[in-house]
This record gives sequence, structure tokens and C-alpha cells, in this order.
Amino acid sequence: MKPSIFVTRALPESSLNKLRMYFEVFINPDDRVLEKQEIINHIKNKDALLCLLTDTIDKAVFNAGNHLKVISNYAVGFNNIDMNEATKRKIPVCITPGILTNATADLTWALILSVARKIVVSDKFTRAGLFKGWAPNLFLGSDIANKTLGIVGMGRIGSAVAKRARGFDMRIIYTARSDKNIPDAQFVSLNELLEISDVVSLHTPLTPETQHLIDEAQLKQMKKTAYLINTTRGPVVNEKALLHALKTGVIAGAGLDVYEEEPAITPGLTALDNVVLLPHIGSATVETRTNMAVLAVENAIAILQGKKPHAIANPEVLG
Ligand code: NAP
Repeated sequence: MKPSIFVTRALPESSLNKLRMYFEVFINPDDRVLEKQEIINHIKNKDALLCLLTDTIDKAVFNAGNHLKVISNYAVGFNNIDMNEATKRKIPVCITPGILTNATADLTWALILSVARKIVVSDKFTRAGLFKGWAPNLFLGSDIANKTLGIVGMGRIGSAVAKRARGFDMRIIYTARSDKNIPDAQFVSLNELLEISDVVSLHTPLTPETQHLIDEAQLKQMKKTAYLINTTRGPVVNEKALLHALKTGVIAGAGLDVYEEEPAITPGLTALDNVVLLPHIGSATVETRTNMAVLAVENAIAILQGKKPHAIANPEVLG
């Protein structure tokens, strides 16, 4: 008999077909995020779980997953999973790093340019029929070339954002838990980064240490002319403090792909013209989402075949 897997939301059909070769596949029939209790109901007696960053996999889910041998998360971040529970129970948690790096770095740059050059408000203005001809002071933004980009979290995505910045002749500074010895980028403290940068771009994972890494005090350290870009996870920024900073001119603008209480957005943010708001689409390209599905499926298959998966968040459980 084939092992069983529960997939919390339909993935591209080609990846599901591959999954069916190895598993008895049960898929959430609705195109919506499941309630936790629904996941609990489905997970009983299943050997594997393929879930998304929108699914909270906590102790109650682990308790219900009495046969669970692997969790394959369709994301590089894994803050949606209680890793202590997974590791305590020796359940491997697989992730999909690398293949979404370029798509997310591209989207980060789309936000940088959108906010610095007022693209969204200019588009709205033009569509509203308000464009009456070239004017010297129409929607003046900021130069990006030769400015300083501060990258918080110089991992895969942070490095890819830096790579693109070199094409814009930017000075690159960064902070991380350790110096990466990058020849043309300077390792600095978070405090220094916030004070010097014209654009601050966040690329750390969400962990207890990075929750509200950017709060009222950090926003006050930034230049009044600076922009904050967040394409990592919403809770890395205190969204209420950000709203206040944007409203009162503490910083010039922000570009957000992620939110603290996603999909809810702090009331007041949508009324502001100096913030660009995207619906968590960092990795949303056809190619990337297809590759992520393949990787997530291959990870689950590898674990059940006793092989090494492409990427695992708790390698210690493999012994
Ligand atoms: P990664 O390669 O693991 O890089 C993470 C970086 O963050 C590393 O440089 C790490 O530093 C640094 N870091 C960790 N904790 C830190 C701390 N407390 N203070 C400062 N720096 C810290 O991860 P990645 O592949 O680039 O992905 C980063 C995150 O992007 C993911 O966790 C995910 O949440 C998010 N993401 C979002 C989207 C989207 O759709 N918007 C898509 C993909 C990923 P060290 O190397 O020194 O440990």
C-alpha cells in the first residue's frame, strides 16, 4: 500500500501527478486556506503533510498527526511550523530554498523603484485622466544610483538584491549574524546600517530574534529621506510604528509585500501615498511556483524513501 499525504492546497497538476506515483494523495478540494481544525481532521493517519506558509502547524496538529513522518513546506521560510515539536518528534521539515531567490529579489527591486519613483500614484493619476502634460515638478522621486542600500540579512535573497544593486551603482552595506567577507559590500551593525542607508531592505527569516527587529526606535534611526522595503515576513516590522513613521515623515516611504497579521493590513496604511502594498507575491512567477512545487514534492518522496531531501530545516532529525 502506498503511503498517504495530505496537501493543504492544490499545487500545479504536473507536481501532483508525480506525487500520485508514490503516495495516496488527499488534497484540500477548495482553493482557500484551511482552518487549523480542518488540518487536524485531515492529518490523522496520514504519513506526510505538504503545507503552505499560510498553514499554522502547531502542537495540536502534531498531536493529531499520529502517523506523520515528514512535513514538506512549500516555502523557504518555516516560521509557520513549531520546529521544537517537529524536532522533538523527529519529524523532518523540508523547505524550498534557492529556487525562489531570483523572483523574490526581482520583486524587492520592483518595490524599491516603485516607492522611490512614485510609480503607483503616478499610474493612478494617469488613469484618472489628470495628466495634462509634462511639468517640471510632477511626481518628483529620488535617485537610486549612487545611493546606499542597507541589506538586513545577507543570505540567498539579500545577496541577490545586492547583485542587482551593483547595476545601479549603489554602495552596499549589510548586517547579518556574521560577517560574510564580501569584497564590495561592507558589514556593519544594524544601528549603523539604519543611520546610513537610503534604502533599507529586510531579508532575515522570522525568528524570535527578528520579531519587531524594526520598531519605533529603529525607524527613528533611519534618514527622513530613506525607504524601508519588507519582502521577508510581516512581523519583522512593527506595522503600527511603521504607519506612524510614514504618516509623520519619520521616513520617506515603504514598500511592503508582507504584513504583520496577514492578510489583514493595519488600518490607515492603505490611505497613504508613500507606501506601495503588494499581496505577498515575492515568489509568484509561473516558473518559480512550478519549481517550488516540484521541490516540495521531491522532498516528501525523498524522506519516505530514506533518501536525503533537497533541503531540510531540522537536519539533526536525520541522524
Ligand atoms: P537565508 O539564505 O537563510 O538568509 C537569511 C539571512 O538572514 C542570513 O544572512 C542570516 O545571517 C540573516 N539573519 C538571520 N537571523 C538574523 C538576525 N537575528 N539578525 C540579522 N540577520 C539575521 O534565507 P533566504 O533564502 O534569503 O530567505 C530569507 C527569508 O525571505 C525567508 O526566511 C522568508 O521568510 C522570506 N521570503 C519571502 C518571500 C516572499 O514571498 N515575500 C519569498 C521567499 C522568501 P547569517 O547567515 O549570519 O546567519
